[in-house]
Order: sequence, then structure tokens, then C-alpha cells
Amino acid sequence: MSAPPLVGRLAPSPTGAQHVGNARTYLIAWLSIRSRGGRVILRMEDIDSPRVKLGAAQQAIDDLRWLGLDWDEGPDVGGPHAPYVQTERVALYESAMRTLKSMERSSTVDFFSETGRPFSEKKATDLNRIYPCTCTRTDIADAASAPHVGQEGPLYPGTCSQRPASAAESLTAEYAWRFRVSDRVLLINDLFQGEVRCHPSRELGDFVVGKKDGTPAYQLAVVVDDHAMGVTDVCRGADLLPSAFRQLELYEAFGWTPPQFLHVPLVIGPDGRRLAKRHGDTRISVLRDRGVRPERLLGLLAWSCGWQPDRRPVSLPDLLARFDLSQIPRTPFVMTDAFWRELCD
Ligand code: GLU
Repeated sequence: MSAPPLVGRLAPSPTGAQHVGNARTYLIAWLSIRSRGGRVILRMEDIDSPRVKLGAAQQAIDDLRWLGLDWDEGPDVGGPHAPYVQTERVALYESAMRTLKSMERSSTVDFFSETGRPFSEKKATDLNRIYPCTCTRTDIADAASAPHVGQEGPLYPGTCSQRPASAAESLTAEYAWRFRVSDRVLLINDLFQGEVRCHPSRELGDFVVGKKDGTPAYQLAVVVDDHAMGVTDVCRGADLLPSAFRQLELYEAFGWTPPQFLHVPLVIGPDGRRLAKRHGDTRISVLRDRGVRPERLLGLLAWSCGWQPDRRPVSLPDLLARFDLSQIPRTPFVMTDAFWRELCD
């Protein structure tokens, strides 16, 4: 029996310019698929409308092409799963929302038999998988008891969770749609992180699948798209690991097979924070404009991934032969001004 085709994707959000941190993640994602002979899809994740910047989608394509990456399907090359731009795929997300609204949440309830031995029974409740939530950010912050404020903010305290989906019609306040997460431990066997466990109701809380402005939230769109496009391997930054569990809940609700996940360490600035504008300019487009050869950036990234002993320029075909997930350090890569100057020299 032949193995199922391997399909990976690059999914930039055109909310700003792509920087060295994005380049490192895309490079690893691309190499991990291409080194195993798989197909690559480029998908533009532009549903986060207020933050989307004009021209950023084309710039992301130009940046990735400059780096030497290619794809078999995407907004600029077409393909069997077109369109590849999320704002053009809204009908699919709406249909998924209708399915979620009609789904009842089933919970496993423990009963005790006459002999005192517990047995479990699947019991459908009158609550739906998703519910309309009128809470504002301030409501959530105020209501959250023990401040479970990780990098993702406080856990949703469940204020609106007893509301059936049908109640949405009579609401006068604006509402988002929240997905009711399960109360059990989920396991992800991540290709890089290994076995990771999460108890969604305790660690994540119910999450938004439909935003107050009526547009789909990232969690829903990404699952619908990865499933519809036949994506088998999802490689991205480790900041999205908690979201992988939310997405796993959605895969299960829809009855779809989840992909293999691979979450790689982020690139951070010298202050330990995720690489961003505050760390100065590390935009790929700046390197392009200055006429820097992509091999120089590839050299820095390859060194940061443990694939070569120094930062000397390297070509993408050479890296394809050297790709090794197990060499990548488990800690974030610290991008410094000195590295940037070295690239631009
Ligand atoms: N579009 C997201 C980003 O650029 C990536 C989402 C994903 O890979 O699931 O951060």
C-alpha cells in the first residue's frame, strides 16, 4: 500500500511585512515537506481584516519567492483547491458554522449500576457545540477569578455558556460564537515538541469561532481550509501550540482527521520577546531592496537550525540535503543587530 500523499502549507497573514522570524519558520516548513517529496500549498490568511495591510499579500509572495521557496498551489499559480485567499473562501466557513450551530454537545456522564460499578453513557445535552457570547474583553478580564493570564490572556469564565444557539436571534447586543471545549486531557504527538498534553476546559477555555463582526475566526478558518485542501502536515511557530488543541477539538467535532503537527521554536529579540518591529528592521523586503543575496539569509537560518557550523551563505538545494529536524535547538533563536548588520554588509 502506498503512503498517503504528504501535503504541507505556508500560510502567511498579510497583516504586516514578513521578517526574519517568519522566514525561518517558512523555511523549516518548506524543507520538511520538500525533503520528503511532498506538495506545498500557499494560502493567504487575510480574514483578520482590520489588521490586513494593502500590498502585504503580494509582498509576502515576493519575499517567499526571493528566498527560493516554491509551491504547487497558491493564489498566484491556482490549483484544484482554489481560491487560496481566505476572504474568498467565506462561504465554506459559513457552512461550517451552520454545521456547528446544529450540533448538540454530547458529554460522557458516569452512572453507577446497582452493583456499584461505574459505567459511562454518552448523553446528548440540550446545549449546542457553540453558543452566542455577548461578553466584552473587559467582562472577561473582570469575571476571570484566578487570573490565568498566560500569553493568551485570561481564560473565558463561561458566563454565556448555558445559552443555546437558538437564543442568538433574540439578542440585542453584539455577540461572538464560542466553541465549548471538552473537559478531558488531549494529547498531541508533535513532530518537534514530542508528546504534549492539554486539558482544554482548564487551560484554554471556550474559544471564539465566529467574531462579533460576523466574520470567521482564525481557528475555524484554518481547520476548514487545512481539511478542504488535504493538508497532512502543519508546520508553524510554537506560539500556536495552544491553538493546535483548539483545532483538534474542531477536527473532532466535524469528524475529520487532524494533520500531523510540527511547532518550531520562535525567533526572539535580545529582550526575549518575539521578534517584531520594536527590535528594528528585520524585514525580508529590506534585504531584497538592498540587493542582498538570499543565500546569506539562508546561511544565517541554517546555522541557527544547527545545519552548518557557521553562517556562511548556502543555497536552498544544499539545505534540502542537509535538512534535519533533530538538529534544531529547542530554545528560541535570538536575532541580534549584529546578525542583521552582517546580512546587510
Ligand atoms: N497565518 C498564521 C500566521 O501567519 C499562521 C497560521 C497557521 O499556520 O496555522 O501566524
